[in-house]
Amino acid sequence: MTLMTAEKYLESMKKTKKQVYFMGEKIDITEHPIARPALNSVAITYDLCFNPEYENLFTATLESGEKVNRCLTFWKSIDDLLKKYKMIQITARMTGRGNARTVGADAINAIGSVSYEMDEELGTEYHQRFLKYLKYIQDNDFTISGSITDAKGDRSRRPVQQTDPDMYVRIVEKKSDGIVVRGAKLHQSVAINAHEHIFAPCTTMREDEGDYAVAFAVPADATGLFHVYGRQPSDTRRMEDDNSDSGNLNHGGNESLLVLDDVFVPWERVFMCGEWKWTFPMIHRFAGYHRNCYGAGKSAIADVVIGAAALMADYNGLSKKSAIRDKLTEMVHMARTIYACGLTSCVEGYCTPSGIYNVNLMYTNVTKLHVGRMTYEIARLAEDIAGGSLSTLPSCRDLKDPIVGKYVEKYLKGVDGVSTENRMKLMRLIEHFCYGQGSVYFLSEALHGAGSPQGQKLLIERESDLDTKKEWAKALAGISG
Ligand SMILES: Cc1cc2nc3c(=O)[nH]c(=O)nc-3n(C[C@H](O)[C@H](O)[C@H](O)COP(=O)(O)OP(=O)(O)OC[C@H]3O[C@@H](n4cnc5c(N)ncnc54)[C@H](O)[C@@H]3O)c2cc1C
Repeated sequence: MTLMTAEKYLESMKKTKKQVYFMGEKIDITEHPIARPALNSVAITYDLCFNPEYENLFTATLESGEKVNRCLTFWKSIDDLLKKYKMIQITARMTGRGNARTVGADAINAIGSVSYEMDEELGTEYHQRFLKYLKYIQDNDFTISGSITDAKGDRSRRPVQQTDPDMYVRIVEKKSDGIVVRGAKLHQSVAINAHEHIFAPCTTMREDEGDYAVAFAVPADATGLFHVYGRQPSDTRRMEDDNSDSGNLNHGGNESLLVLDDVFVPWERVFMCGEWKWTFPMIHRFAGYHRNCYGAGKSAIADVVIGAAALMADYNGLSKKSAIRDKLTEMVHMARTIYACGLTSCVEGYCTPSGIYNVNLMYTNVTKLHVGRMTYEIARLAEDIAGGSLSTLPSCRDLKDPIVGKYVEKYLKGVDGVSTENRMKLMRLIEHFCYGQGSVYFLSEALHGAGSPQGQKLLIERESDLDTKKEWAKALAGISG
């Protein structure tokens, strides 16, 4: 077993035969300028395993003594949950998106713990299959996508009520050697850059929805699997000769529409097949883990945004003004609130029957609900501090233009001692996070990733235990009965 280097990871992506379409063309993701920053963000998760400062967070040692990437392990203690959390923070800060491999890790842990309980209760062999699969991906140090969100069609209808039955991924055929699946998963982070995909249902299924109660894994080059690359705001700036207007020069992410057009899955890769009752714990465990990640990832991106806003205040000569300092303090307060909530959901985690630890459901949902609000407020304050140039700035090409360059240089300058070029670069970075490509990770994903806010409210309500709170109120007020 060997941990892959970033270089080997990039080589492996070259070798994997992927079907990826962008703007009507089939592309090579290792060559295309739009795809490269996302690859870099995955590559860093390989690099950091060899960095003495971070290897303790990015790798884990198995009982056999072998060292593997933390995203390919079961979390067997609170300490594991905390290390995963802190690992995400490091990559989010370095790349401006979360940790590219944690969505796969969350799927691994959700399926790991639920398949164990299924086998105990139903006498199935899903957990043993999953353990073999886990060893395979550990041995190869693969990047895994966690593919959960279905197309869903008419949201007011159940999967079986849809006009088109493929709106949720489903089993279309059961064979002696495996199953054939059809459907699509939407908004798939890192899937384009993955070696393997793990699939699970995105909602709880009912008795008549057994064909939709399916969890499995397929390789990235499976026949019938392809991606349609999702567009991001200002993405084609990456295709310009000079990348400077992109803001975040080397890192980014991508999402895809992942289509399964009658893909064959051998039985050894099937981890749920019709057990509809078990979709409930499966989706809630995945969502719980994944919502927790946002406390670390989005607070780390927020820290970068706060740093950029503070630097912009320096560049504008405003850093000593109390109104600016107050806004920055407000931003820090929100970023740390998000971080602390997520940390609490790890610390208050609990052990499931398989020995795999789950996060605290109340706190992980509180974290995610805050994330979907506070990041937008942090972005608003960053935009407030940066000023209107954020949305009216000329291009970096104009700065270098022989005719207009000197005027751009002269009139976009801030304080003495700071070049216009640096001030413009900083504006672009803030723009990137507030409404450029980075807003996909700082804002849209903060809102919808791991489920839209209403999903968190449902879980918070379920965990609220209002009856006990009523008793406490009665006790203080002297109300009996
Ligand atoms: C950047 C990004 C990255 C993502 N990465 C991944 C990933 O890696 N893997 C993955 O599986 N998923 C991923 N997702 C998907 C994410 O989990 C979904 O976007 C989320 O669950 C919402 O689903 P939706 O986008 O279909 O919106 P919808 O379900 O259409 O929701 C839109 C709105 O309608 C409301 N709504 C929906 N149905 C109902 C109803 N029946 N009654 C009342 N209100 C309703 C919702 O609460 C929400 O307010 C990602 C999303 C984003 C934005």
